[in-house]
Amino acid sequence: MGDQVFEKEGGMETLDELIKVLSEPEVSLRNCRARATKTCKICGRRARWFRDAVSEFEYKISAICQDCQDRFFHSGNDLT
Ligand SMILES: [Zn+2]
Repeated sequence: MGDQVFEKEGGMETLDELIKVLSEPEVSLRNCRARATKTCKICGRRARWFRDAVSEFEYKISAICQDCQDRFFHSGNDLT
């Protein structure tokens, strides 16, 4: 309640962090293999479940698991 402003600021910071993570050479190298092995290119863990079709689609594009998607894309946002 009343978190609106903080949500926005937090979102910007996480996006910054995401861009930083994605520009790591190690992470871009992992991109192809992550998709082939169904793992996440950020945390390296298996990406076995997704909350919805949108998240699954996001994984197909970016090879980022549900956990990391939550962390970076939906931080502070409750999607209900
Ligand atoms: Zn992950």
